[in-house]
Amino acid sequence: MIVILKSQTPLSEVERICEELRNQNNITPEKLESNHKVVIGLLGDTASLNPDQIQQLSPFIEQVLRVKKPFKRASLEFRHGEPSEVVVQTPNGAVTFGQNHPVVVVAGPCSVENEEMIVETALICKAAGAKFLRGGAYKPRTSPYAFQGHGESALELLAKAREVTGLGIITEVMDTADLDKVAAVADVVQVGARNMQNFPLLRKVGATGKPVLLKRGLSATIEEWLMAAEYILAAGNPNVILCERGIRSFDQKYTRNVLDISVIPVLRSLTHLPIMIDPSHATGKSEFVPTMAMASIAAGADSLMIEVHPNPAKALSDGPQSLTPEKFEQLMLEIAPFAKFFGRWTTLPFPTAMSSHWLHEFVDAAK
Ligand code: PEP
Ligand code: MN
Repeated sequence: MIVILKSQTPLSEVERICEELRNQNNITPEKLESNHKVVIGLLGDTASLNPDQIQQLSPFIEQVLRVKKPFKRASLEFRHGEPSEVVVQTPNGAVTFGQNHPVVVVAGPCSVENEEMIVETALICKAAGAKFLRGGAYKPRTSPYAFQGHGESALELLAKAREVTGLGIITEVMDTADLDKVAAVADVVQVGARNMQNFPLLRKVGATGKPVLLKRGLSATIEEWLMAAEYILAAGNPNVILCERGIRSFDQKYTRNVLDISVIPVLRSLTHLPIMIDPSHATGKSEFVPTMAMASIAAGADSLMIEVHPNPAKALSDGPQSLTPEKFEQLMLEIAPFAKFFGRWTTLPFPTAMSSHWLHEFVDAAK
C-alpha cells in the first residue's frame, strides 16, 4: 500500500503520519521522495489496513493506493511511477544507471584469465567508451570439468585493472562465503542467471548495500525475476539493476538463448528499476551481438553488457560470443549516434575513414 502526500506537506506532518502508521500492527512505513511529492510505502500485513481510515489520518494525504502486485518495493506503483536510479561511484567518477540517463556500456571478457589480458582488455574497453569492466573470477559452468575461473587471485587482477583504468568493476558472486571478498573489489556485484533464485545469496547481497546486477534466470518468468529483486530490496538495498540475458526456448540451434526484447517495455510498465541487456549471452554468437545491441537501445535499455576478448579464439570461456577489440570499437562508434538519436548518449564519436558510410550519415543526422 502507498500513501501519497500532497506537495508542500510540512516535514513535521510527514513524520507524524509515519509515526501513526508505525503504530499500526506489523506495518513498516518507508518514506520515498518522488516527483517533488512524498510517498510513504507501507510494508507488512497491509491486507488488514483500511485505506479510508488511513486517509483520515491527515488532511495532507492526497491518496491511499493498494499495490496489488506480489512484488511491492520493486513495483512502479511503489515509487508512484518515478524511475529509480542506481548511482555507482567509480574512480573515473559517478555513473548513473537509469531511464533518464545515457546508456551505460559495461564490457569485458567472460573470465579474468591473467593480468596482461585483463589490463589490456580494460584499456581497450575504456578507450572505446565503456564505463565498467566486467570479468568473472568465479564462473558458473555447466560442466564441472570446464574452467571455473581463477577465484580470489582474479579478484586481485580486477583490482589492478581498476587502478590502471579507473573503470568500475562488475564481477559475479556465486557463493555467500565469497561475498565479502567480491564486494571488496566490485563496484557492482553480479548475481548470475543460475543464482537468480538463490535466496540466501539474494538476502546477503541485499544486506551489503553494494549495487547489485541481477540477471534473469534461464527460464525465469518476469514475476519470478521481480520477486528475486524484491528479496534484495527487502533486505534494505535499493540499488538493483535488472539484466536480461536471454531465456530458454524450443529452437536454440542458431542462437544460445532467445533475447526477450519485449521485456524492456514490459518491465517499464511494472517496475522502476534500471534495465540492462546482455546480447552476448543472449545470442551466444558475436556476429549477432551488434544488431541486438542496437535493438536494445531502440527499445529503451538503460545499459548494455558486452563480452570483449583480445583473442576470442583462445578465450577460456565464451569465446564464440566475445567481440574482438576492433569489433567492439566499431560497435561503440555505431551505437553512439544511434543512442544520441534517442537522447541516451552525451558525446558523439569522430568517425574515422574506416567507419562505415551509414555511420557518417547517421552522425551528421544526429548532430
Ligand atoms: C556471465 O555474465 O558471464 C554469465 C555467466 O552470465 P549468465 O549468468 O547470464 O549466464
Ligand atoms: Mn560469459
